[in-house]
Amino acid sequence: MKRTLYTNEYLMFRDAFRRFVEKEIAPHHAQWEHEGIVPRAIWRMAGELGFLCFEAPEALGGGDVHDYRYHAIVAEEIADAGVTGIGFGLHSSIVLPYLLCFGNDEQQQRWIPRMVTGEMIGAIAMTEPAAGSDLAGIRTTAVRQGDHYLVNGQKTFITNGINSDLVVTVVKTDSTARHKGISLLMLERGMEGFTRGRNLDKIGMKAQDTAELFFDNVRVPVANLIGEEGKGFYYLMQRLPQERLDIAVVAVAAAAAALEMTLRYCKERTAFGQPIGSFQNSRFKLAEMHTEIQVARVFVDRCIEALNASELTAEEAAMAKWWTTDLQKRVMDECLQLHGGYGYMLEYPIARFYLDARVQPIYGGTNEIMKEVIGRAMGV
Ligand SMILES: Cc1cc2nc3c(=O)[nH]c(=O)nc-3n(C[C@H](O)[C@H](O)[C@H](O)COP(=O)(O)OP(=O)(O)OC[C@H]3O[C@@H](n4cnc5c(N)ncnc54)[C@H](O)[C@@H]3O)c2cc1C
Repeated sequence: MKRTLYTNEYLMFRDAFRRFVEKEIAPHHAQWEHEGIVPRAIWRMAGELGFLCFEAPEALGGGDVHDYRYHAIVAEEIADAGVTGIGFGLHSSIVLPYLLCFGNDEQQQRWIPRMVTGEMIGAIAMTEPAAGSDLAGIRTTAVRQGDHYLVNGQKTFITNGINSDLVVTVVKTDSTARHKGISLLMLERGMEGFTRGRNLDKIGMKAQDTAELFFDNVRVPVANLIGEEGKGFYYLMQRLPQERLDIAVVAVAAAAAALEMTLRYCKERTAFGQPIGSFQNSRFKLAEMHTEIQVARVFVDRCIEALNASELTAEEAAMAKWWTTDLQKRVMDECLQLHGGYGYMLEYPIARFYLDARVQPIYGGTNEIMKEVIGRAMGV
């Protein structure tokens, strides 16, 4: 089905970003998977070419482009190429909006120009060893002492964790309260007492630096508080729908890419004297996946339009997130099965797509939590 979202100017942008991925990222990605991290130089290159922080104001070096389609294109092309170590989406589509929506002028001027150029890499740190889904149960504290906060605690599973320079950190400014005790503080590389732990060894997304962060009496200026004290949970709830849509966009694009490579394989590989795709089981599986991916894409494209119109609801974003990532997981499994033993070999891209996909129903709020969000919106 023809997509109606992307007219010529978007296609030109897509071509340019695809060329960047093909030339500067894809040839090195296997090496970066081996190293467990992508080099900072790739961020600078992306910044120079205008692939980061589209919404940033022109005065701060950005394009002032408020159109989610550009984020979607970047996410789709990264997913299509399977270069899952690249954390541009988190930086531009998740971290930057906290500054744009809730940061003050001074904060925007202090950080955004370097985020646009890729000199400064963003991350968001919510999850802790003892609190993931139960965000209000976090234990990292920020105690106000004059013109600074004293921050103590730790975070885990933080995307861009090793490379990050600027971390939207979810803290408790009132540890006796749950949601209402939460605030957002910007922690910066180099602050005394702010250290990185392990770059975690994952089953997939091997080139993505997912890390632990530790805070030991870190003195964070009050000037680094985003918005108002005690409003952090409210800010997160406002921004999470876009994060969930980012994940859904990736899910559909990765599933489509896996199906394409599998279809090719099914036409080339023969068994019992015929292409394996011509067995009725294979044809049915391919037809089912093709149908479901098309259906998913239409819904996600509609969500993109809704987001652009500031109409995307939390439950619609949750629907998109759980359903597409569940689909992605099933598609990867079926596609791997159609590759037979070769599907189990890491030298075949489908094996990596399968492993990279597994986290999608987990992060950004687990799919169980997504169903809670939808159920609650239904009044049950
Ligand atoms: C690769 C990777 C990257 C990540 N990046 C980031 C990041 O950049 N920043 C960040 O802050 N976090 C990040 N995370 C963390 C991620 O968001 C959490 O892992 C996720 O929210 C789940 O939290 P948890 O791991 O503590 O699981 P738990 O909350 O302990 O959940 C365990 C299981 O219990 C289920 N469960 C929990 N509560 C309920 C409930 N009320 N009803 C039904 N079932 C429930 C969950 O669905 C899950 O199946 C990342 C995680 C991974 C793996």
